[in-house]
Amino acid sequence: MTYLNSDKPVADETKTTQSMNDHPLASLLPLLACPECRGDLARQGAGLTCQMCSRSYEVADGIPLLAQAGSSELWGVESDSQSSTAYQEQFLDVSIGERYQQRYERRWTKRCVTRREISRIEQLLVSQPRCHRLLDIPCGGGRVSGPLAKATDLLLQADLSLSQVLTARQTMGSQGNFAWFTASAFLIPLKQGTVDGILCNRLTHHLSGVEQERLIGELLRVSKRFVILSYYDHDSFKSRGRRLRGKNPGHTLRRSDLDTMAKRHGASVAMDVPLWFEGSRLRYALLLKNLD
Ligand SMILES: [Zn+2]
Repeated sequence: MTYLNSDKPVADETKTTQSMNDHPLASLLPLLACPECRGDLARQGAGLTCQMCSRSYEVADGIPLLAQAGSSELWGVESDSQSSTAYQEQFLDVSIGERYQQRYERRWTKRCVTRREISRIEQLLVSQPRCHRLLDIPCGGGRVSGPLAKATDLLLQADLSLSQVLTARQTMGSQGNFAWFTASAFLIPLKQGTVDGILCNRLTHHLSGVEQERLIGELLRVSKRFVILSYYDHDSFKSRGRRLRGKNPGHTLRRSDLDTMAKRHGASVAMDVPLWFEGSRLRYALLLKNLD
């Protein structure tokens, strides 16, 4: 078993010793499930232990470390390539989020993109009633988390990398309406229907078709009502242009395929907006779960 939290926590003198009795973890514990078997987790010593499979998980600086690498065999699906494990390792590279954060904050053009992403996320969020709980995964350093915090009573932020989660905590401030843990978006350590909605920003275009489907299924398991998902549109100007020039367009998704995947997991695409204009490569979709 591989744990992905070996990266050193960011030094933060003000928040180094959050105890197990602190509010964020206490409010989080009833929602958590073992990422391996989905059993209940309970405190044991300084960490958490699964009541079903007895696996134990560390808690670092008040943050449960529940991120696990998993090849597709763990998900019960056949891999569509021989390099599934290698691919996972590439995707699970903890520095992906950090590279984004650095790249996006460095240039004013990127800050402009961030503002636009936030406005698109807000546009989809306001179409939904106020939430009791929202999940932001992968949260990165909290670059686009602002609108989520305003739309919910409790915001859960999760990322593969502990240093990213610590950055997000610093960005949001350690108030009572946030909780943090490390997690893989493929094996979310939360019980079914725990949150009202999920934001999954800038992840699908790193994934192959099988992974995209698995991700959407997992997000729709954990969310009770909706998922906001970004994706690269297969038929955008940029994707078409890259294909014409013989360049790799990245892991794009057809809008029709997204709809089909959502339907297979009991949801449908209710809204689908481009980042900038109709031909934009990056789009934001709102998946709404069907009412039982
Ligand atoms: Zn377990």
